Amino acid sequence: MITIENVTKTFGDHTVLQDIQLHVPQSNVIAVIGPSGAGKSTLIRTLNALEPIDSGQITINGYDIHNPKININEARSKIGFVFQNFNLYPFLTALENVTLAPIKVKKMSQADAEKRGKELLDSLGLGDKYDAYPNKLSGGQQQRVAIARALAMDPDVMLFDEPTSALDPEMVTEVLDAIRKLAVAGMTMVVVTHEMNFAKEICDEIVFMADGKIVEVAPPEQFFSAPKSERAQAFLSKVL
Ligand code: ATP
Ligand code: MG
Repeated sequence: MITIENVTKTFGDHTVLQDIQLHVPQSNVIAVIGPSGAGKSTLIRTLNALEPIDSGQITINGYDIHNPKININEARSKIGFVFQNFNLYPFLTALENVTLAPIKVKKMSQADAEKRGKELLDSLGLGDKYDAYPNKLSGGQQQRVAIARALAMDPDVMLFDEPTSALDPEMVTEVLDAIRKLAVAGMTMVVVTHEMNFAKEICDEIVFMADGKIVEVAPPEQFFSAPKSERAQAFLSKVL
């Protein structure tokens, strides 16, 4: 469960997040959409404190994320983050990418971490890629390794920032299918995406952002058939 209350953030004199309020109940999937520069990446990065905030509060499964008194590494270990550009460790194999954090952070034995890592890679269709280095994998395969790596920590929530934007079109489906499976399994997720059909199909709510503000929050049927704000109408007329 994620609660964002009155979050504001500026870069210099530019307010990139203004009074953001959002509640994501357990097992809900939220798509964050909106034009370039809206603040989508900044918002999702504040959720695991990759980006500091100026004011407000973010709570994820009981952790007050921006409170300097909490153990942020412990909080982050329960938050999976998947980036647009995969960000795999280039000098580690697929399996080593997946087992690194469970061994280092969770102090899992190598044998247990490898067993779990192989299960995850198998479930993502990468059963024959354990020993492959990232530069020998396609973009879609690398992104599925990145998803496996995030899942290996048994996260309570998963955050995705445009997970398919860097992929060739034919690889988008395999990554969206992996995210869809997580949604069906009840994972709480926030997905910044430009894939409108995907957002329509798997999300409980669409969060539409523009100019650092949440302009509209609505279930997908409602948002895509009858957006209330002019800003959302204009955006949809361009992307649909
Ligand atoms: P896109 O769809 O292009 O990914 P976005 O909605 O993710 O856009 P952000 O990356 O969150 O947008 O950026 C929001 C605003 O904050 C932009 O105006 C951007 O220029 C600005 N910004 C982002 N990061 C920084 C930074 N580190 N320093 C200064 N300004 C920044
Ligand atoms: Mg972005």
